[in-house]
Amino acid sequence: MSSKYYWDTNVILDILLKREPFYDKVSELYKLFKVQNNLNIYISSSQLHNIHFIVQRENSKNKIDPAITKKLIDTFLKKCDIVKTPAYIDSSNELAITDIEDYLIELSARTLKNSKIITRDKKFLQQSNLTITVDEAISEIEEQEEKNISFLNLEQVNLPHRIEIEKGIDRVLTSGWYLQGNEVNAFEKEYAKFIGTNYCIGVANGLDALRLIFRAYTELGQIQEGDEIIVPANTYIASILSISDNNLKPVLVEPDINTYNIDPSKVEDKITSRTKGIMIVHLYGQNAMHPEIERLVVKYNLKLIEDNAQAQGCYYGKKRTGCIGHAAGHSFYPGKNLGALGDAGAVTTNDKQLANTIRAIANYGSSKKYINDYKGLNSRLDEIQAAVLRPKLSELDEDNNRRAEIARFYTENIINPNIILPVTKDFFQPSNPLSHVWHIYPIRCKQRDKLQQYLADNGIQTLIHYPVPPHKQNAYKEWNNQHWPITEKIHEEILSLPISPVMKLEEEHKITEIINHYE
Ligand SMILES: *Cc1c(COP(=O)(O)O)cnc(C)c1O
Repeated sequence: MSSKYYWDTNVILDILLKREPFYDKVSELYKLFKVQNNLNIYISSSQLHNIHFIVQRENSKNKIDPAITKKLIDTFLKKCDIVKTPAYIDSSNELAITDIEDYLIELSARTLKNSKIITRDKKFLQQSNLTITVDEAISEIEEQEEKNISFLNLEQVNLPHRIEIEKGIDRVLTSGWYLQGNEVNAFEKEYAKFIGTNYCIGVANGLDALRLIFRAYTELGQIQEGDEIIVPANTYIASILSISDNNLKPVLVEPDINTYNIDPSKVEDKITSRTKGIMIVHLYGQNAMHPEIERLVVKYNLKLIEDNAQAQGCYYGKKRTGCIGHAAGHSFYPGKNLGALGDAGAVTTNDKQLANTIRAIANYGSSKKYINDYKGLNSRLDEIQAAVLRPKLSELDEDNNRRAEIARFYTENIINPNIILPVTKDFFQPSNPLSHVWHIYPIRCKQRDKLQQYLADNGIQTLIHYPVPPHKQNAYKEWNNQHWPITEKIHEEILSLPISPVMKLEEEHKITEIINHYE
């Protein structure tokens, strides 16, 4: 993983004041940062004061117009990522005693993973193991070749949102109000608007979102214990857990081998007089809705539940997934397309009665304090998580577009007869850009484990979504001797390539090239 480079104030001043004899070397360093768009200059907020003060003082001595000085500083700072300076100061720390300015920079640098501080201050170089010289930085950056590509680097994913996340967390901390407050309220409104439903209820996680939907239908008498719910056999187990948790019967349906989503042509055969609903799962980020499902929902008067845990932002026609059924469960697990800093989830629906019931059940069964209408549970979205999700939601379409670009690159450039790419002919049409939001880029290979080892040997981390199908899990012993050949084939062959909004161009190129050399 590449380093994050803080610049000590003296190095910044060398640039801004063109200080000799350092200017040449430092401008060489600066050039590297300008040409490599993945390289950012990090500074600690504690440095700002000195940078402004010294540059203004020196330039005014040299009779430089203050407006020009201001522009010089502003232009430089635009290239910088300013990181907070923590308040947890240990005044007995050796560096704090010798040089409080350096200590504060180091303290700030330690709030990011893999950070280094570029300085030419000899004492600082001696006293901190994070510091490196300008020369060392130049050669490190020039030689730097990404060795390993991790499947998903969540620190990196959250880094562009760091300032807004900090603001949000500070707001919550300051408010003194940590549950059911302004942040959750605002997020629910913003998310409902984004998805296109009238109601959104923030809950503790994605599994709860789904199980609360069934629980509420049960409380409302619209579904009875023992009723059947159709669900894809090829899904993450949580989809199915939400059904069995409510003493309903999950009825498995095989996926389409091309989409990995529920095969619409196999659903009608499974419908009985006890069938009350269909759960579609927009697996891997791909819209699973289909006109045939629409037809069946109407014909048999079924509830259509969407598991939208992997597909925030995805479209079905002009609508987003999450507003095409009667209710949808969303997960904001950190690794999802819209991820919190812990567990979080939501239900979206246009059904007011359902929304009110879910809200009450998730709050001890109560909609009025100390009055309990249901034997409820406690499953609420925290203020802190809502405050983190809000700024990330406003960037979600952009993030998903970046994912789609990477997916398109893989699809157009991975050419290897041993590898089956996702069938994506529609997804890259301008008219239909986000009917897949690429939570995962799944490829298939007959000798999947061998391919995974080969990629690992070449420094590329991949994951399997998922290695064991739900019907082969101990949790569902009653299904263990059932045979779902398409589901099993997918589980045996599938492999997820790295994909994320912060993935670098070099990385997608390297992965593609290495896969193309696989035999
Ligand atoms: C992640 C996920 C869930 C569960 O969400 P959590 O927030 O982890 O409880 C449910 N269904 C699918 C398809 C998922 O990927």
